Amino acid sequence: MDNVNAAFKWEYAPAPEAKDHARIKKQYDLFINGQWQKPASKKYFASFSPSTEEKLSEVAEANEKDVNTAVTAARTAYDKYWKKLSGAERAKYIFRIARVMQERSRELAVIETMDGGKPIRESRDFDIPTASNHFFYYAGWADKLNYAFPNRNPQALGVAAQIIPWNFPLLMAAWKIAPALATGNTVVLKPAESTPLTALKLAEIIEEADLPPGVVNIITGFGKTGAAMVNHPDVNKIAFTGSTDVGKLIQKAVAGTNKKLTLELGGKAANIVFEDAPIDQAVEGIVNGIFFNQGHVCCAGSRLFVQEGVADVVIRKLKERMDTLIVGDPLDKNTDIGAINSKEQLEKITSYLKIGVEEGLELYQSSHCHLPKKGFFCKPSLFIGAAQSSRVAQEEIFGPVLTIQTFRTIEEVIEKANNIPYGLSAGVWTDKGSKIFNLTTKLRAGVVWANTYNKFDPTSPFGGYKESGFGREGGLHGLHPYLRF
Ligand code: NAP
Ligand code: MG
Repeated sequence: MDNVNAAFKWEYAPAPEAKDHARIKKQYDLFINGQWQKPASKKYFASFSPSTEEKLSEVAEANEKDVNTAVTAARTAYDKYWKKLSGAERAKYIFRIARVMQERSRELAVIETMDGGKPIRESRDFDIPTASNHFFYYAGWADKLNYAFPNRNPQALGVAAQIIPWNFPLLMAAWKIAPALATGNTVVLKPAESTPLTALKLAEIIEEADLPPGVVNIITGFGKTGAAMVNHPDVNKIAFTGSTDVGKLIQKAVAGTNKKLTLELGGKAANIVFEDAPIDQAVEGIVNGIFFNQGHVCCAGSRLFVQEGVADVVIRKLKERMDTLIVGDPLDKNTDIGAINSKEQLEKITSYLKIGVEEGLELYQSSHCHLPKKGFFCKPSLFIGAAQSSRVAQEEIFGPVLTIQTFRTIEEVIEKANNIPYGLSAGVWTDKGSKIFNLTTKLRAGVVWANTYNKFDPTSPFGGYKESGFGREGGLHGLHPYLRF
């Protein structure tokens, strides 16, 4: 049997992307007021490559004093320069950021992959181009706000504090900074502690684009740094992407203040396959939805619902496809699944694999999958026979772990898909347009993909329901949270 399966697996010669052109400094200070400033704490911490466990650089740890300096710089820049500029002038700066990002896209992709562990194919073909597209797109809105919101006299809020996670470091920075600048706000942004390097590269790009000092400040640090940003009295707007637990803390901290808030939190998306679906395409969409990117995607299709009549064939084809997935060096262009972002995250995923087995579910991992000896890696994993109450089917694992449940009727699958605290995204696979429309109105999810999965575009809004947060990013809707009327 093994030999039969082995025929599915192509052997590829290694094709590593060169990394000698990626310039990573040994140490990074804080980017405040257009300058690189030493942290008041005098402390630095390391950022590692999760695929080699090598230290890549060390970055400054911003404390409350540094947060205050950054917020003051953003306030001064807002009053002195940014609010006085016309939309067309702001747009010129934002276009410039987009163009420099494009020019440096290769270097950004390599650093994103080294620092975060995602496959170079993802960072090269998705993260970096989509990030620069966000700047292009929002640059286009900067002088058209009165058309976006006619007769409502939209006004900037002031200083935005923005906190982002480690799964799409540069893309999340773009999602946050581009609409804030287009609407006339100034920014203090903090990347996640394990993936600060592309945000610091973005600071270099902002320097090169010659933005007035203090319009964008980028500071590195831990959760405490984020909390100090949230609690700073001179911040007008908080934009947070991260876990639901931290989102709840932030919501409490902001209650009773004047600060505007958007929260983009966790997810546990249902990917639903009907009997009339194009099965091969669906299997590819399932794999793309949960395994590529190591399942480090808030909208990952981590709960698969298959209609009973096609369950056997979907499971068979899925296993066959899993047998061909290449887990390994993220800098290799053949790699499908790179490194898990950190040791802690790998431990969390491993503990869920144990929980699933203890819950009595059948676990499938390909016997052809060999993990590198060094670094943090996880085999793509499939739990068959999950129940609605299985913890692995209810809780966000944030790793390459998929659960399968079956269903008979459309009512049953809607009920099961919605019966979860999250509501970020969902997928539907069917030949029938009417079924798609029926589901999109009944699924409580911010985004529903039909016969595709994980597709993004700067013009489309993205955001959640329930414990997945509130507010939208992207598209015209993404301007709204940065404006008052
Ligand atoms: P996290 O632990 O909540 O961290 C997110 C960011 O918040 C990091 O920069 C973190 O700093 C900072 N932070 C931690 N504690 C804080 C506090 N008390 N106050 C203010 N900031 C604080 O989340 P994560 O583990 O990095 O990211 C994974 C989560 O993000 C998943 O749940 C995923 O679903 C979610 N996510 C959602 C979306 C979406 O659009 N809905 C997109 C991507 C990811 P440190 O790094 O120093 O801890
Ligand atoms: Mg790192």
